[in-house]
Amino acid sequence: MIMASTVLQLTPLSYPKPIIGIRQNSEPSLLAFHDLLSLIPRCASLRELKQIHGYAIKTHVKDDISVLTKLINFCTSNPTISSMEYAHKMFDEIPNPDIVLFNTMARGYARLENSLQAMVLLAQLLCFGLLPDDYTFSTLLKACSRFKALEEGKQVHCLALKLGVIDNVYVHPTLIHMYTMCNDIDSARRVFDKISEPCVVTYNALITSYARKSQPNEALALFRELQERDLKPTDVTMLVVLSSCALLGALGLGKWIHEYVKKNGFVQYVKVNTALIDMYAKCGSLDDAVSVFENMHVRDTQAWSAMILAYAAHGHGFKALSMLEEMNKAKVWPDEITFLGILYACTHNGLVEKGYEYFSSMIHKYGIVPSIKHYGCMVDLLGRAGRLDDAYKFIDELPIKPTPILWRTLLSACGSHGNVELGKQVIQRIFELDDTHGGDYVILSNLCARSGKWEDVNFLRKMMKDRGAVKVPGCSSIEVNNVVHEFFSGDGVNSTSTALHHALDELVKELKLAGYVPDTSLVFHANIGDEEKEVVLRYHSEKLAIAFGLLSTPPGTTIRVVKNLRVCGDCHNAAKFISLIFGRQIILRDVQRFHHFKGGKCSCGDYW
Ligand code: ZN
Ligand code: ZN
Repeated sequence: MIMASTVLQLTPLSYPKPIIGIRQNSEPSLLAFHDLLSLIPRCASLRELKQIHGYAIKTHVKDDISVLTKLINFCTSNPTISSMEYAHKMFDEIPNPDIVLFNTMARGYARLENSLQAMVLLAQLLCFGLLPDDYTFSTLLKACSRFKALEEGKQVHCLALKLGVIDNVYVHPTLIHMYTMCNDIDSARRVFDKISEPCVVTYNALITSYARKSQPNEALALFRELQERDLKPTDVTMLVVLSSCALLGALGLGKWIHEYVKKNGFVQYVKVNTALIDMYAKCGSLDDAVSVFENMHVRDTQAWSAMILAYAAHGHGFKALSMLEEMNKAKVWPDEITFLGILYACTHNGLVEKGYEYFSSMIHKYGIVPSIKHYGCMVDLLGRAGRLDDAYKFIDELPIKPTPILWRTLLSACGSHGNVELGKQVIQRIFELDDTHGGDYVILSNLCARSGKWEDVNFLRKMMKDRGAVKVPGCSSIEVNNVVHEFFSGDGVNSTSTALHHALDELVKELKLAGYVPDTSLVFHANIGDEEKEVVLRYHSEKLAIAFGLLSTPPGTTIRVVKNLRVCGDCHNAAKFISLIFGRQIILRDVQRFHHFKGGKCSCGDYW
């Protein structure tokens, strides 16, 4: 008999303060067994759960395994109660635990990111002469994923093979996920390739793996394969496929997927619409992003944030800021991503004071704790505006340990503002944390070269070589007829020239006639002449991609290029000339922002 208003009277066990409302008139055993079971989900604290456990011990109800199972289950799954220590105590009381109990315990440990303990349970389970079932496998594999425990994951995989449960629908996706999280995407692919009839969940797992590992082409190829097999993609598939298009800057493909989304009823998902906004923004079509946003019936924080980020990345800083006001009016609460967009907007429009105001309101009005990314935005904001000393002070006084990226942001600013002395101080701070990043040597070396400090240039080059620091090669991609073509800087410098290189040679001649002067001071190569430096510069990845776009698309078509690093000054200048001479609009997305080149000018106003 249970009444919420009455008080627990479980004599003779004495508890400090009765909590749960159980009226018990005479003997404890009067509390029916099923009443006890139904009380468990009503526990609001570990103390209450212990009361029920105590009552079960006292009345010998605990000998019934279902009570303990339910208690353990509740103890391991309820976030407010969650105590694996207590759950394990109860578990140890059971002389012959069954597989369900093992699974419950393993799931509890996996959830708490105590993956090793979950593996210990597997060994214990085998000692009891029990065999793991498909549920055990998926729980253990999830635990290995979280812990990035590749060796343990392989052991679980092996056992699943031996026991013949490998073909279970739950095991495949978790295996793929485990290998991905352990950075072994080849093994993930091998698992997939061995499946005779992969289902959509398995496809989603591998597509997600590729997207996560920045292999969007592979992700999109699998999406096509999934359709050829007449499988119906889910909203998860659409999210991942859209993020792959965004990564590649593949607008044509993205538009086709948008049509697919409309035809197949995925428009109802707020997350899919948000992914569409992000895709359009990253593929350089702000108008399409706005149109998706305006057609949404329900807009959550993520949708607003995606739109704010889109405006900011395309240089419409004031529009991004006004969106925050509209968001407030719509009573949608901003989060840390919203403020990244806001700070980003301030940075790209040089709004230093406004940036400080928003940074402060983010903390004090909205209670958001700044992350390293927010600090990065502030350093960028100050650095771009030329307030280099303030930026240095800002990093130095941070409440957290600065990352090399923060200092690197300032180093770039020193590069664009020509401050050699501060640049040298900053690189020292970077080297204290990481001296393997070739890009740092290059920035400072270019800076020294422009100030004619050749001794420093040679010194930096030698140091870079001695320390084995490598520069990430520039890579630019362009989508033509739904195929994404990638170009790497230096392609063709040492190899046999192709038609594209000849075309680029001719193109540069034409640009020179119009007044373009190659900026060879940007070339980081020791002991080569100016002419060779020009060749290196000419075959930069973004120039190759733009030239390819010029050759393979009809006149007047907008050329959209995506670059993995910041666009270099020389390519930026060349793109302006190309847009003027050929009457082409060029939209270049670099790692920082969008550059819309039109009629010899760039939307960034050379402020990047
Ligand atoms: Zn370049
Ligand atoms: Zn620009």
